[in-house]
Amino acid sequence: MKSFAIISELIKILGEKNVLADEESRSIYGKDLTKNFKPDPMVIVFPKNEQEVINIVQLANATNTGIVPSGGRTGYSGGAVSASKEIVVSLEKFNRILSFNSIDRQVKCEPGVITKTIQDFALNNNLHYPVDFSSSSSSQIGGNIATNAGGIKVIRYGSTRNWIAGLKVITGNGELLNLNTGLAKNNSGYDLRHLFIGSEGTLGIITEATVQLTTIPHETKVLLLGVSSKDHITKIFNSFKSMSQIIAFEFFSELAMQHILRKTKLEHPFSIASSFYILIEYESNDAQDKICLEILEKYLREKIINDAIFSSNISQAKKLWRFREEISMSISEYSPYKYDIAVLPSNIAAFMNDANRLLHEIYPDMEIIWFGHVGDGNLHLNILKPAKWLKEDFVSYCNLKSHEVYRLIHAYEGTISAEHGVGLLKKSFLHYTKEKNEISYMRAIKKIFDPKNIMNPGKIF
Ligand SMILES: Cc1cc2nc3c(=O)[nH]c(=O)nc-3n(C[C@H](O)[C@H](O)[C@H](O)COP(=O)(O)OP(=O)(O)OC[C@H]3O[C@@H](n4cnc5c(N)ncnc54)[C@H](O)[C@@H]3O)c2cc1C
Repeated sequence: MKSFAIISELIKILGEKNVLADEESRSIYGKDLTKNFKPDPMVIVFPKNEQEVINIVQLANATNTGIVPSGGRTGYSGGAVSASKEIVVSLEKFNRILSFNSIDRQVKCEPGVITKTIQDFALNNNLHYPVDFSSSSSSQIGGNIATNAGGIKVIRYGSTRNWIAGLKVITGNGELLNLNTGLAKNNSGYDLRHLFIGSEGTLGIITEATVQLTTIPHETKVLLLGVSSKDHITKIFNSFKSMSQIIAFEFFSELAMQHILRKTKLEHPFSIASSFYILIEYESNDAQDKICLEILEKYLREKIINDAIFSSNISQAKKLWRFREEISMSISEYSPYKYDIAVLPSNIAAFMNDANRLLHEIYPDMEIIWFGHVGDGNLHLNILKPAKWLKEDFVSYCNLKSHEVYRLIHAYEGTISAEHGVGLLKKSFLHYTKEKNEISYMRAIKKIFDPKNIMNPGKIF
């Protein structure tokens, strides 16, 4: 069927105002935050209910047309990119909170509900949704589930997977599956819910999520530390982790700090710069504060920590967090080539030493920015594009050199994607993390749910 015939069928399903094919919409909805791919969708559609999604998927099957599910488009892997005339299914109008059960502490949501809306909804009900990251005001719960989003509190609460008590999905076959009904215990065979979590829209479209909420943590405090060397990060992490109730343990370099200061006009928090900074959030009470102070004093004495700031109120805590949260935005004008890698926390210092040697060899004239969720072993490594390089040349060069970086990751038994997903961006590097036979099983699983390969074709593998 030709594009215009498919579009007119889509208009029959959704009505004219929920089907867009103009140039501007195609360019906006055809991409996520990766800027390496030229968007080229056939059309963008905005379903508002399950039946409409089923009808779209059936039409895509009947016409052999690809579908790209699209959430808040804040992804960093090209998962929501449509570059081959697919139907982009935007979930942004399918966005109601459906029900709340205060006994089970669960909220049922449509896929387009913004992450921050769930966080606020939880707070308004005296509860807590603990998955959090800088893009939570724009990303959607469906996108978070499809990427198994992590963020700043994984060390304490785990990633999105831990908070999804039930899922409804429309498979690539056009079939509705109701996967776990919020039950905490349900050992009745394979839990297919977990296959869809992190599947990056390649198996089906998430149409409803039962999100588990929890109690609000006690008062928290934030601690910003200037550290004399990255070699000490693991040691400091180990001390805090074994003795205190850490919620976040993040790190970033002085180079990252310089970009934040330039972009935000904030003042440097310390009178003397350190090469690295650690930001810790922990649940505070008299005993915990005492433990943290003791660890701090020990490391200050040993000159492992150069300087430290404790937040004494919420606004100070928020201000300290800005130094970490605004890094991505502050370097975005340099079109960074982003690595989202992970190794075991115990291997971080050794890995970073090996990686730095390699990076200075392969990227000799480029600025290298490290930051990340170091408590989870997740390092965000960013190579900034020098002004004189053309974007295409820079990306091709980095793609070529990435094989060396990922070979090192492989040697450390790490991953090429800790939380952003594989999408289009990292699919040619997947074999550094997954063995051949594992990828074959993944392909076979996709075939079961999506025999005609219409769901996000060409993503992941
Ligand atoms: C400043 C910044 C900070 C970030 N920090 C983090 C972080 O700390 N941790 C982290 O994990 N990520 C982070 N991200 C990345 C991103 O926000 C997450 O990956 C997020 O989960 C993507 O959600 P989204 O709604 O924007 O999805 P999109 O980008 O729209 O889509 C992501 C993937 O999900 C699929 N998808 C979307 N909706 C559905 C659906 N309903 N059904 C099936 N498939 C679907 C898409 O096809 C695509 O493959 C950050 C991004 C930014 C810009």
